[in-house]
Amino acid sequence: MDCSELPKPAGKARQVNENQCQMCMPLGGVIAFKGIENAMVISHGSQGCSTYMRLANVEHFNEPVDIASSSLNEKQTIYGGEANLKKAIDNVLRVYNPKVIGVLTTCLSETMGEDLDRIVATYIQERQIEDVDIVPVPTPSYSGSHTEGFWAATRGIIAHFAKPTEKHTRINLIIPHISPADIRGIKRILGLMDVEYTLVPDYSLTLDRPYGGRYQKIPPGGTKTEEITRMPGAPLTIQFGLTCPDALSPGRFLEEQFGVPLINLPLPMGIEATDQFVETLQGLTSGTVPDQLTLERGWLLDAMADSHKYNAVGRPVIYGEPEIVYALVRTVTANGAPPVVIASGTKNSKLAGLLVPVLAEVDDKPILLEETDFAAIEEAAAGAGVNVAVGHSGGKFLTESRGIPVVRVGFPIHDRTGGQRILSVGYAGTLAFLDRFTNTLLEAKYASYRAQAKEKMMIREGC
Ligand code: SF4
Repeated sequence: MDCSELPKPAGKARQVNENQCQMCMPLGGVIAFKGIENAMVISHGSQGCSTYMRLANVEHFNEPVDIASSSLNEKQTIYGGEANLKKAIDNVLRVYNPKVIGVLTTCLSETMGEDLDRIVATYIQERQIEDVDIVPVPTPSYSGSHTEGFWAATRGIIAHFAKPTEKHTRINLIIPHISPADIRGIKRILGLMDVEYTLVPDYSLTLDRPYGGRYQKIPPGGTKTEEITRMPGAPLTIQFGLTCPDALSPGRFLEEQFGVPLINLPLPMGIEATDQFVETLQGLTSGTVPDQLTLERGWLLDAMADSHKYNAVGRPVIYGEPEIVYALVRTVTANGAPPVVIASGTKNSKLAGLLVPVLAEVDDKPILLEETDFAAIEEAAAGAGVNVAVGHSGGKFLTESRGIPVVRVGFPIHDRTGGQRILSVGYAGTLAFLDRFTNTLLEAKYASYRAQAKEKMMIREGC
């Protein structure tokens, strides 16, 4: 089998995007920089770009998410935005006193042809900056979604800080764009397995802060840059990034530039993928699996046995970022509800191929939509008899127009509270997801079964 065997939707190619299924590229870059200690970000573009990115992040994380802007307008669009960007960096240094400044381009600055590397290098020379790292990352939104922005910024950060260093025993762990609760879930497993690590980017605290009284312009937390500098001395890199394009892959960069072996794993969601992660860690420590993880694995298996009879009626549509979509497809398929529609706003060269072995035993092959929007997803869902959706808040359109309930996971969650606290990884996170998925199907069933039974009876009696 090859990826061409996954069905594509019939009909004409769409020319417009109606209720998009992805967000913009620099937005993903912002999230990566928020996972670095003492970092601040500047969006090199118009005010509107940073306002949109702030709003999307604040609605999801329910935290203040500061993003500075070089505030380009008509004049700079014609004559260049160098002076504005330099002024923006001056202001950020004065107001935030950061140790790291990420500068992300936007559609506008890229279309203008701004030479970001040159502007930043000139600025550093002119102002004689020595104790602040300024990291430019090109993120034109017309060449990728927030997923690519996240990977590009993570790779850019590592490429900036990583230096040849002595060998040590701390492993590198690179995550895709997951929730702060998921980051904490992964760190918990690493802690239980007694593994030392450098996790990049770690926004588990910066974008999900405990109540602490006074507002802090740059919240505590994030990966320390000194640790990133030492990543080339690590024994290996684990990257949860099977769908990550090689050109953007931080783990691939460390392998190619510094010879750090890369183990690319699926996001540890579901029994199989979590086993893979735990076994990889076990191989490093030669230790036993802690009782707590064995118990959690057992509870998950028990929950799978309990819920499979309900899940058999599930006809899900799974949508969102490729790495999360891949993890979700594996999880629902292993739990008796293979998806009938799979969709992503991102076009990913790897997703279709990765899905083929996962769906090999599935008779009713799902439709795969990439670079898609919710108008196309709704059309495919209606044709395939979808009865449950799994993904971010964009799926609310499916509920509004088709009555399809949404199990919320991913980014953004802007119509519910607690998006940052949704845990889906590890045995415990998978169990939490599975309960939510099964209960959503049960809720739909119990909301309509009396009416359906009555309807059937009336048909039988010829009323
Ligand atoms: S103009 Fe481009 S970079 Fe700015 S918000 Fe829109 S998609 Fe994002």
